[in-house]
Amino acid sequence: MNPKWNGQFSCFDLVAKSDTRSRTVVRVRELEIGGDDFVVMAGPCAVESETQLLQTAEAVARAGASILRGGAYKPRSSPYAFQGLGVEGLKFLRKAREETGLAIITEVMSEEDVQLIAEYADIMQVGTRSMENYALLEALGQCGRPVLLKRGMTATIEELMRSAQVIVMAGNPDVILCERGIRTFETATRNTLDIAAVPVLKTVSHLPVIVDPSHAAGVRSLVPVLARAAIVVGADGLLVEVHPCPEQAMSDGDQSLTFGEFRRMMRDLQPYLELQQEARQLRPQLLAAGGAD
Ligand code: PEP
Ligand code: MN
Repeated sequence: MNPKWNGQFSCFDLVAKSDTRSRTVVRVRELEIGGDDFVVMAGPCAVESETQLLQTAEAVARAGASILRGGAYKPRSSPYAFQGLGVEGLKFLRKAREETGLAIITEVMSEEDVQLIAEYADIMQVGTRSMENYALLEALGQCGRPVLLKRGMTATIEELMRSAQVIVMAGNPDVILCERGIRTFETATRNTLDIAAVPVLKTVSHLPVIVDPSHAAGVRSLVPVLARAAIVVGADGLLVEVHPCPEQAMSDGDQSLTFGEFRRMMRDLQPYLELQQEARQLRPQLLAAGGAD
């Protein structure tokens, strides 16, 4: 372990890696996030209709995803943009789970909605804009569901760890960290994927780490290559936006993959996943920063 990181992160004792603490494996139905499984969560940015969601659920399940994503409560940058279907969207997500067997991840924006969303979701997503909403994080401590915590778009790794500590301290040990790109001076991409954050987090924390290449890229052509990079640096899974007809999507169409693009990406990731498995078994330190795994 890099001695600088030891001092910087060990204060978040419930989420920091230590010699005595084994890795957290978050169990969602039969899946193990942070264990041997590489878990792909895929689906539309927003739940728009029953047909849109069910078609997408079937397509991503067939291509190898095991968790369906879809926002029913949307934190949009503009107050004039589509804000999500709310409870109706949650009901479509439940139906998609019944029909495909996929687990469900969906975003929660307010502590007032935690109980309701926990009735429908297998994983509660905290978006980049909510990473420091401590009232929400504390409420998630008692929700009885794993939490996927996205890194704030201007948050440091230390601040991400601090927010994770708040959730675990409030009683919920099942936290998954998510790197989704940070805001930098670069404008060619929507955000800058901080690829180094993955091995750093895997080194300083025992929590699983997944990568969202869609919000990092902002354009669909970059999503597959960033997904490959995520595997190479040791991520435990991906969160990817997929839409039946991206040009008609009510949110994030530019970065959403078509069904065919998602299928091809999943196929092309296979050799990288096999290499990741080999590296994990033979040389775990290859996937850690500073050989500390
Ligand atoms: C999303 O996953 O659709 C989303 C709003 O992501 P983020 O919070 O990373 O912007
Ligand atoms: Mn989105």
